[in-house]
Amino acid sequence: MNAMGGWFRQFTMKMAVALRRFMAGRYGTDRLNMVILCAGLGASVLSMLIPVQPLNLIFWALSYVLMILAIWRTLSRNTYKRYQENRKFLQIFDRLKDRQHRYFDCPKCRQMVRVPRGKGKISITCPRCRERFVKKT
Ligand SMILES: [Zn+2]
Repeated sequence: MNAMGGWFRQFTMKMAVALRRFMAGRYGTDRLNMVILCAGLGASVLSMLIPVQPLNLIFWALSYVLMILAIWRTLSRNTYKRYQENRKFLQIFDRLKDRQHRYFDCPKCRQMVRVPRGKGKISITCPRCRERFVKKT
């Protein structure tokens, strides 16, 4: 029994080392991947629940595409690009959560500008390049 336990422990340790070696230099998982996976699972559940012929096939295909995308991102070696994707996603997520402000991109330099909501039409000056533009808040 003890020898068996020792063998098992050694096996799991070897597996852990192999996994770590396999994942070395690869991106791994992040919040965006979690959302993609959840959306994939949701699509897969929907495809089973919806009895309408073309619609359930679309959700079924979508669930596969999303899950493959999540796995591909996890194994990707282009960690910088994956990190940027996640950062952008979190930024959009934060914007959606923020009900007090509106976000605009400067038309000249793409700098993100945050202004309070519900002020009507206002003239915004970009903090980076001083470009002025009018937006409805
Ligand atoms: Zn600007």
